[in-house]
Amino acid sequence: MSVLVFGHKNPDTDSICAAIAVADLKSKLGLECKPVAQGELTPESKFVLDKFGLKAPEVVTSVAGQKVILVDHSDLAQSPDDLGQAEILGIVDHHKLGDVTTPNPLECWIWPVGCTTTVIKSMYDFYGVEIPKDIAGAMLCSILSDTVIFKSATCTDEDKKASEDLAKIAGVSNLMDLGMEMFKVKSAVDKDSPRDLLFRDYKDFNMSGNKVGIGQLEVVDLSIVEPVKDSLYAEMKKVKEEGGRNAVYLMLTDIMKEGTELLVLADDPSYVQKAFGKSVEGTSVWLDGVMSRKKQVVPNFEKAYAG
Ligand code: MG
Ligand code: MG
Ligand code: MG
Repeated sequence: MSVLVFGHKNPDTDSICAAIAVADLKSKLGLECKPVAQGELTPESKFVLDKFGLKAPEVVTSVAGQKVILVDHSDLAQSPDDLGQAEILGIVDHHKLGDVTTPNPLECWIWPVGCTTTVIKSMYDFYGVEIPKDIAGAMLCSILSDTVIFKSATCTDEDKKASEDLAKIAGVSNLMDLGMEMFKVKSAVDKDSPRDLLFRDYKDFNMSGNKVGIGQLEVVDLSIVEPVKDSLYAEMKKVKEEGGRNAVYLMLTDIMKEGTELLVLADDPSYVQKAFGKSVEGTSVWLDGVMSRKKQVVPNFEKAYAG
C-alpha cells in the first residue's frame, strides 16, 4: 500500500504541488508514495498542472489505517478528521508547528521560508535526486503563488534562490510573466459560486477557544471582486452560523497595490481594532501592506484574542 502524501484542506497550489514532489522524491528513494489531495483543484492549481502536463492528485478525505506524510500543514484542523488513526511518517512544511503529535520518530522538514516546495528543493539536493522538468515547473509555480511573486512578507532569499534553480530546470525564462499569468487565472471570480470563492483558500483556527475562520482571495485588482462582494458577505454569514464560528474574516488582497481589504463578520469586531489598530468601517477595513495571512494576520488575531 502506497504512503499517502497530502497537503491541507481546501488545497492551494503549494499543497498540491508539494504532495506531487514529495511523493516523487520519496518513491525514487524507495518508499512507494502517492500524492493525494483533500479537495478539488482551484483554477490556479489546474492552470499549473495543465501547464506542466501533470495529473491532478486523487481526492482523499479519510486516511484511517494508512501511512501518511503531511505537506504544507501540521495542524489537526487542516488534516483529515481521522488522521489520529493513520501513521504519520513525515512532515514537510513552512508554517508554525501545529498540534499534530506522533507516537514514533518521524522525518520532519519544517523551515521558516515562503513555500513548502522551497524546502523540497533542498530535500532533492540533500538526497542527490534530480528534479524532473515538469515537477520543477510546478514547484516554481508554488513558490510564485505562496510568495505572491516574491512580494509577500513571507518571502525569503531561500525562496528566490530555489525559484532561479527551478526555473532553469523547468525551462522557464521569465518568472514575472509566469507569475502574472498565474495570478490572472487566480483572479477570476465570475465562474465560481460565492461559497466556492470563500472556501477557495480558507482556514479555521482555534484562537483562545474562539473558532475563527480566515479566507483569502488574491487578485490583481480589487475592482474584480467588487461585483461579488455582497454575495461573499452573505455567504460569510451562513458559514459563520453553520460552523458555530465566533468570526469569519475574508482577506481581499490586491497584489498590485500590496494591501488587503479585510471583510469582517465577528461577534466582537473590536478584535480587529486590537489586532491592527484600525476600526472597521461598515463591513471592512483596509490594511495597507498586508498580504500574508500566515505572517501578518493570524499572529495579530491570535494575540488579540488571547487578551
Ligand atoms: Mg498552503
Ligand atoms: Mg504553502
Ligand atoms: Mg496562499
